[in-house]
Amino acid sequence: MTGDPNQPRPDVEPAVASEVLNALSFDIEDWFHLVEIDAVADTRQWDSFPSIVEHRTEEILQICERHGVSATFYFLGWIADRYPGLVRRVAEAGHEIGTHSYWHRKVCDLDAATFREDLARSIGVIQDAGGVEVTSFRAPSFSITPGTEWAFDVLLDAGLRYDASLFPVARENGGYPCTERPHRFTGAPSGRTIPELPMSLMRIGPKRVGFSGGGYLRLFPAWLIHRGFRALNRRGIPGVVYLHPRDFAPDSPVVEMSRSRRFKCYVGLSSTAAKLDSILSRYRFASCGEVMAASLPDLEIA
Ligand SMILES: [Zn+2]
Repeated sequence: MTGDPNQPRPDVEPAVASEVLNALSFDIEDWFHLVEIDAVADTRQWDSFPSIVEHRTEEILQICERHGVSATFYFLGWIADRYPGLVRRVAEAGHEIGTHSYWHRKVCDLDAATFREDLARSIGVIQDAGGVEVTSFRAPSFSITPGTEWAFDVLLDAGLRYDASLFPVARENGGYPCTERPHRFTGAPSGRTIPELPMSLMRIGPKRVGFSGGGYLRLFPAWLIHRGFRALNRRGIPGVVYLHPRDFAPDSPVVEMSRSRRFKCYVGLSSTAAKLDSILSRYRFASCGEVMAASLPDLEIA
């Protein structure tokens, strides 16, 4: 790959879809780790809620095994504290382990000191549980936003190798304008750079929208998701799948929230496993770390 990685390449590049390595990732949290939902915001109640995280993560592990693919599992520190055996099982299955913070608070709502403390606590508990190095971070709700660039210095100080938090267009709880390609983020206040794996977008009419994870993947029909992967891979850009255990869980309790928000949180839950199967059988996938190593060859992931 040559040229400036921050510059979009034209759609007319040769079709090399089968050669592009796409990234598979899962944010491991429970159904009640939804941001900005008052009904589940009180962390003292979390222990009293029924949990779906263990059995749905086991289901995800089985899907990965069936397709012979490794993925990155971004664990919430709180989950690693409650279910250390789950982190160990995921690590022993050969998957990459990342952190999704400890408390699932949006980064843009925190100051640097609070984020530093939360991040360190999450890394400690996840590494203790999994027995492997935590390599990277994904912000809850992609909440590293313009003005929150200090977060990258906190990630670098913590020894993380790369970040996978940026969503390249504005969205409800986050978003950061950037290229969709893996690149070196240069906006940290210290002047240091950090490798970044941004989320994927596709063009629908005049808009660029997500399609490869969470509510987008649950809402969109499989043919449209395939179109998104083909369009990215034709340009040599890896697609990034990001899903949560609750995306596979029609049995999740339904939380009190606005109608539009409820639609986004609960649409298409029973279609996720089949869509993921169909994506994994058509395109090449690996963990985020492997995709970053392939995209930025001088990067040392572990
Ligand atoms: Zn999350």
